[in-house]
Amino acid sequence: MRNIKKSLIQLLYPKCIRCCVCGRAAIEEVCSACLASLEYLEGRVCLKCGKGFDDDYDDHTCPDCKLGDKHFDMAFSCFRYKAMGKTIIHKLKYESCKEVSHTLARLMHQKLKDENIVVDAVVPVPIHSRKEEARGFNQALLIAEKIAAMSDVPLWDCITRTKETQEQFKLDKIHRILNVHNAFCIKMLYNDEEYNSVLLVDDVYTTGSTVDECSRILKQQGIEKIFVITAATGSNT
Ligand SMILES: [Zn+2]
Ligand SMILES: [Zn+2]
Repeated sequence: MRNIKKSLIQLLYPKCIRCCVCGRAAIEEVCSACLASLEYLEGRVCLKCGKGFDDDYDDHTCPDCKLGDKHFDMAFSCFRYKAMGKTIIHKLKYESCKEVSHTLARLMHQKLKDENIVVDAVVPVPIHSRKEEARGFNQALLIAEKIAAMSDVPLWDCITRTKETQEQFKLDKIHRILNVHNAFCIKMLYNDEEYNSVLLVDDVYTTGSTVDECSRILKQQGIEKIFVITAATGSNT
């Protein structure tokens, strides 16, 4: 009887799978209820880094971006890194639910379309090889290759992480900057590529030190425009 019921459900809903986050029946990797509980960045955000503003914040640029020392041109993000936003990122990074990268890539691709961002290539933020070996994958690369395919532009996996850095969330702002300084370099293999604009892809934007350091070395390579997309971002503090 149970088998008949299961077959009937499969017949009626052939694509029915389990949500990676809550385990309920879903038609995509993350169910619509989990997606609906994300805090999307649809209101006012910093025009430079894309962080969401709290309601009482009366400006267009966050205090951090007012310093004007960022190497990238503009950064965008889809939802806040809190509650379900945090859960979904943790599922991907720490529980190896690689399927979540499809959901994140779709949200990020839609954001880029809404913002009319067009680039020559998509560049993932690298993790150190030792960490990649332990985790089994680089989450930014998983997302970046899907965004590249959806946008029909080449994936340019051109940066390598030469320094094993501490987890950024454990550090204050100054130490985050020091932590990633000179932590990356361009892979020699790719030095002949000629792109004018690239999209840098990472999972989370907190102080932006990581994507900023990657942007700095990409600009040294002669890349003129650098846009950044992350799935989630902290608030403007
Ligand atoms: Zn769910
Ligand atoms: Zn900002």
